[in-house]
Amino acid sequence: MIKKILKKVNSDGAFSLVKQVSAQVLESQEKYNSYITLTLDRASKRAQEIDSLLNAGKNPGPLAGIPVALKDNLLYSGEKMTCGSKILENYFSPYTGTAVEKLEEAGAIVIGKTNMDEFAMGSSGETSYFGPTKNPLHPDRVPGGSSSGSAAAVASGDVPIALGSDTGGSVRQPASFCGVCGLRPTYGRISRYGLSALASSIDQIGVLASSVEDTALVYSLISGHDPKDSTSLNEKGYELSDSIEEGVKGLKIGIPKEYMGETLHSEIRERILEISNKLVSAGAEVKEISLPSLEQALATYYIIAPAEISSNLARYDGVRYGFRAPEAQTLEEMYIESRTQGFGPEVKRRILLGTSILSSGNYESYYLKALKVRSMIKKEFEKIFSSIDLIFSPTTPTPPFKFGEVKDPMEMSMADSYTIPSSLAGLPAMSVPVGSIEKNLPVGAQLIGGTFSEPTIFRCARFMEKIYES
Ligand code: GLN
Repeated sequence: MIKKILKKVNSDGAFSLVKQVSAQVLESQEKYNSYITLTLDRASKRAQEIDSLLNAGKNPGPLAGIPVALKDNLLYSGEKMTCGSKILENYFSPYTGTAVEKLEEAGAIVIGKTNMDEFAMGSSGETSYFGPTKNPLHPDRVPGGSSSGSAAAVASGDVPIALGSDTGGSVRQPASFCGVCGLRPTYGRISRYGLSALASSIDQIGVLASSVEDTALVYSLISGHDPKDSTSLNEKGYELSDSIEEGVKGLKIGIPKEYMGETLHSEIRERILEISNKLVSAGAEVKEISLPSLEQALATYYIIAPAEISSNLARYDGVRYGFRAPEAQTLEEMYIESRTQGFGPEVKRRILLGTSILSSGNYESYYLKALKVRSMIKKEFEKIFSSIDLIFSPTTPTPPFKFGEVKDPMEMSMADSYTIPSSLAGLPAMSVPVGSIEKNLPVGAQLIGGTFSEPTIFRCARFMEKIYES
């Protein structure tokens, strides 16, 4: 897709493209509510700059004129960053984060900030203060979350790429629900400078894109060490190569039996087995594996994440950022009222849970225990990756559901049950669209690899993408 758009920019210019994209974006905003803020005027100005460079025979970069969208928890200097919350409704970004800066340096043009579950807590887009985003493939269904608008913006064809964030699955799960690609990198490979924190030991910026090739290109441009992020790995980052077309011959791939259990939608199971046969025919070795601690991953995540959330969100106190309750008389009232009115129910639930988990008495029995289970999960993954190259599974146990269909938070958390384990282990993982099932609902396949295994993930993802490419 990017290659096609680059050709268009070269022939017609970036300004004309942005004009066209702007018209489409306004229309899709009406239909799907994918954005919280549109930056179309700024985009037009950027396009003119890019055109001047092109006209002067200069190269504005590998993404010259490519329209991109940013999840609204990423800072983009001078524009609002709401995190989908009332508490930050009028908060303006003081600077641009590293990943976004790198995209702009490569010539990309930001067209807007996308809708999301409030503070990235949710799996359906329904917790956004700015109303839910609709799934462009099935507007009566959710697009997944929390990077709901980013996935919808790519699925509706507004942009070929968008940035999201993935803590427990918020890039891969909406990618799967919207029929696009979604990559979560090895922990520390994309700088988080300029990403609003949810659960810092798990958060990663990820890429949503319309193809594996585009995902790999964007990843190569935004990954790599950043001195501004202390958790950024001290290495060069992913380097683009032709290996994504090499096929799967010789790859050792494991399907965890824990992911193929009874809660899995039967047609998704069939799809995974169908792909597995194709992998074998193409020369890969596919076997069933077992990762027993996967069963504990969801519970572990829902202890560690809320603990970090309650601490990270303590900064929204009505003083330094965003919303302040106007009627508060005393300092205490101001704290209480600003937070009570500023946060939505899901955010409050997690803050309460996290505060309770971290309180003395509970800390040892819940938080410390969860940390121990987390290292067990990590070890189990490490062990398995000493004998196989990739883990292959569905991205989600069900296809996209209808609005309001999943009300119970416990049931909602199941949407991330296949994505959370690798998140806890800090491993790279990707969701690739693999066609659709009943009622034309999209299916995503997930590939998980060991640390720095993104080249192998892309290779296998490209193989799968080709099977279902129409
Ligand atoms: N849906 C999960 C949650 O609500 C994951 C969120 C995320 O990855 N940001 O915590």
